[in-house]
Amino acid sequence: MSFASVCARWSGRRQPETVLMRSRANLVATAVVAGIAALSMPAVAYVRTVTEAGAPTAWATPRVTVEFSLGAPPPVSDVAGFLDAAQQAGAAWSNASLDGVKLCSNVLFTVNPLSDVAGPVGMDYHNRLIFRQGGWCRDPLPAGSGCYDPSALALTTVFQLKNSGEILDADLEVNATDFTWGDFVGHPEQFEYNTQDFQGAITHEFGHVIGLDHTCFIPGGTFADGKLKPRPVDNHGNPVPDCSSPNLPATITDATMYVSVGSPSAEVDLRSLSPDDVQGDCDIYSVGKVGGCSCAVDPGHGSRAGALVLLAMAARFLRQRRRRAEQAGTPPAPDAPRRAR
Ligand SMILES: [Zn+2]
Repeated sequence: MSFASVCARWSGRRQPETVLMRSRANLVATAVVAGIAALSMPAVAYVRTVTEAGAPTAWATPRVTVEFSLGAPPPVSDVAGFLDAAQQAGAAWSNASLDGVKLCSNVLFTVNPLSDVAGPVGMDYHNRLIFRQGGWCRDPLPAGSGCYDPSALALTTVFQLKNSGEILDADLEVNATDFTWGDFVGHPEQFEYNTQDFQGAITHEFGHVIGLDHTCFIPGGTFADGKLKPRPVDNHGNPVPDCSSPNLPATITDATMYVSVGSPSAEVDLRSLSPDDVQGDCDIYSVGKVGGCSCAVDPGHGSRAGALVLLAMAARFLRQRRRRAEQAGTPPAPDAPRRAR
């Protein structure tokens, strides 16, 4: 089995599929088409991740235990804060947390702390949550591969069977090299120019873990064989609009599975599922169904990994912060997301 980073070419059979957030300027060319598509989006819509064979992905038994490496947490939160945030993120998708909205899903996330500092990404039936500090790179880094895009906040690699879509393993990596992580609700005073809300980001990534894709489309993502990923369709069969569209409805932009975040306060909004997120969770993992797929185990052919990234769209926030810093007489802060391609 071999892997490559999200920014590199893929080789081997089990490989990540990539969805990369690019700057809005790079997406303008497809904005018109996206605008048309957006107008036709139904009120309640969600998007499932599919394999290159077209199979929607899901756990056969959606009891997902996540091992959270907390031996040396990065700034600015602490062990207790990070653990609670991850558990709350899991609860958002789990059955109990949907009570009061719609008690319908079989999903149950359990987040257990580990005393190690980090762990590998790999198909080992251990679902990991890992901070990457001192280098935003996969570990182990495949030969010939580069590190991740520094503007990516976090990345989830999902291992699933190509033909059935059954998810077998998922590993989450958090960029603690280019960003610090905190609790914007409990401790907003800890937030600096590059601090992100951990719970909001992880809630989004956990959506990928259970098989949900973004609510809008970023052209350029590829499957394992390098072929471009086609525009996905939502649960109604409608093409998903481009993320660059200026006319995206609130049902898309308010969803936890929307692709971008503009500020820590907006990131906090990701903590709470939108009706579309809840509908996706419940349709895939309805109470009474065993998982979301009638999965024929196909371990020998076509297993692969899917990688999805949540990237920072924090330029406006950073400009505001920089202006405030300049007005206060302090030097401008580094503009990490501007280093994006
Ligand atoms: Zn994402």
